[in-house]
Amino acid sequence: MSHSRKLLQGHVVADVIFNEIKVELQRMHFPRSPCVAFLRIGNDGASVSYVAQKEKMARTIGIKSILKVFDPAQITEDQLMEEIKNLNLDTSVDGILVQAPLPKSIDFVNVCNAIAPNKDVDGFGAENLGRLLQEKSGFIPCTPAGIVELLKFYNISPAGKHVVIVNRSLIVGKPLAALLTQHSPWGNATVTLCHSHSENLSQLTRQADILVLACGKPGYFDSNFVKPATILIDVGITRVADSSPRGYSLQGDANFEAVSPIVQAIAPVPGGVGPLTVALLMRNTLKAFKLQNNFAT
Ligand code: NAP
Repeated sequence: MSHSRKLLQGHVVADVIFNEIKVELQRMHFPRSPCVAFLRIGNDGASVSYVAQKEKMARTIGIKSILKVFDPAQITEDQLMEEIKNLNLDTSVDGILVQAPLPKSIDFVNVCNAIAPNKDVDGFGAENLGRLLQEKSGFIPCTPAGIVELLKFYNISPAGKHVVIVNRSLIVGKPLAALLTQHSPWGNATVTLCHSHSENLSQLTRQADILVLACGKPGYFDSNFVKPATILIDVGITRVADSSPRGYSLQGDANFEAVSPIVQAIAPVPGGVGPLTVALLMRNTLKAFKLQNNFAT
């Protein structure tokens, strides 16, 4: 990438957020630390690694975590709901996160809706998503909130800009569209949401001032999909097998070599949005802790 192009380094922004949380925790005098419970079903490699990263970061900044792992062949939706119900009632647990993906027999949305709204640190439950649409305070999903933090850090205002998002999931596209269309200085964008039924995708993505890719198709988006000077946020993360010692590399949806000479700035994979998702989860956990222990938020 030439020096005139800018890398949007999410890991730098994430470190700032981690430090803020650490300092705030050190200033609080409370008999216990915030605590987040992670529920993982099965041993899918990416899920194991995501939860391990979250546990490690929690430990580093002074947040306690509990990990519950379930056998996908044994656990039913009702049993998982029961686990969540118990954690909802447990006053020593501030936040609850169920790591996706879940087995097909378990409905992810039902599970998210079972988490008490004031412990829903992923923000995927109906109440928090509704509050986001209503522009009321609540828990905002971590990846969209992280993308807004990235834009803020690099002073890239989305206001009045055309943001094209290739993703309509509850985790990325829909909450991001809601955030970026809020009546706020870091909203006020014009948003187009694309998905697998969108016709003429490259014509749509080429209109973007800010282009957000979250398809999970490694290297799919080449120079045909981006207009000059676009800001590109690559959210897609796929493990692609290679001959390295760990056996894979992490790849984004953008063909980095092809698009980097064209774009104004790019949040790459790895090192872009990924670390911000973890940082915003920690911030949401601190918020949940404060809510449940009557600290001002
Ligand atoms: P998902 O639910 O499978 O969503 C994928 C989206 O891409 C869907 O909306 C899908 O459309 C769309 N899509 C797939 N192929 C397409 C195509 N050829 N043209 C246009 N749209 C297409 O997955 P997700 O959970 O949102 O995650 C998406 C990606 O983001 C994954 O790579 C994931 O690892 C990554 N991710 C990264 C972070 C992070 O922290 N950086 C966080 C979350 C997710 P349909 O809805 O029509 O199927």
